[in-house]
Amino acid sequence: MSIRADLHTHTTASDGTCEPSENVRMAKEQGLDAIAITDHDTVAGIAEAIEAAARLGIEVIPGIEVSSVARGQDIHVLGYFVPYADAAFQEKLVGLRETRHERNKLLIARLQELGIDISLENVYCRKQGTDKNIGRPHIAEELIELGVVSSIEEAFANYLGKEGAAYVNPPRITPQQAISLIKEAGGVAVLAHPGLYDDDELVQELIAYGLDGIEVYHPDNSPDQRKNYQMWAEQHGLVVTGGSDFHGWRGEEPFHAMLASHVAPADAVARLQEIARQRKS
Ligand SMILES: [Zn+2]
Ligand SMILES: [Zn+2]
Repeated sequence: MSIRADLHTHTTASDGTCEPSENVRMAKEQGLDAIAITDHDTVAGIAEAIEAAARLGIEVIPGIEVSSVARGQDIHVLGYFVPYADAAFQEKLVGLRETRHERNKLLIARLQELGIDISLENVYCRKQGTDKNIGRPHIAEELIELGVVSSIEEAFANYLGKEGAAYVNPPRITPQQAISLIKEAGGVAVLAHPGLYDDDELVQELIAYGLDGIEVYHPDNSPDQRKNYQMWAEQHGLVVTGGSDFHGWRGEEPFHAMLASHVAPADAVARLQEIARQRKS
């Protein structure tokens, strides 16, 4: 079966700017058959998305993007068909979000040391809702507001990104632990945007550890990287996935890439579903 699906999108449940139902509506408008909601360390947006999808006649794949750290950098592992309504699974995610909060505190402290008049309270005020799943884009917006930088890109390049002056990386779970967490919950584990890490040795290690798939079609993977990861996926029998990493809008511009600008190969959803089915039985 051929399915057109964007398997990587964020909502207001983490650092996206659109409500989950809005992502679903846009996916339908773009002519997609399916969309995955993959918020950072939370499944809070999924129930709303599924409800909206039922009305519109489009499929929502319950997902997550788990943050982990290896060799000093953030590694993201996507989970598909995760048990989003399961209390025990949700409980595990609470711990992951607390680490995120610790990271934010350290980051703000670093920015203050650099002489920037920024406060944790003001950043957290940017986010509505009770779970306060704050990420670096929220801090970037505050830096724009304060006139320290003029764009999200500049905020990441100068301060918040891997090479930035305020970049911090407190202890987090390893990517191996993230893969196990997803698989043990009955989900399917896929390495997000491997091209971003500049560490193909690690990608190979994680394939050997037990990844189910690899995100080949992502705006941050170069054409050469896509070719390479496609080849590795074929060699190891991994599912090739893809998605836009849509984060909503920052001003007029889509943040990261526009929803549906990157989609998964036609057989990806069926293959992910089959792995999840086998794992749950
Ligand atoms: Zn990511
Ligand atoms: Zn993402």
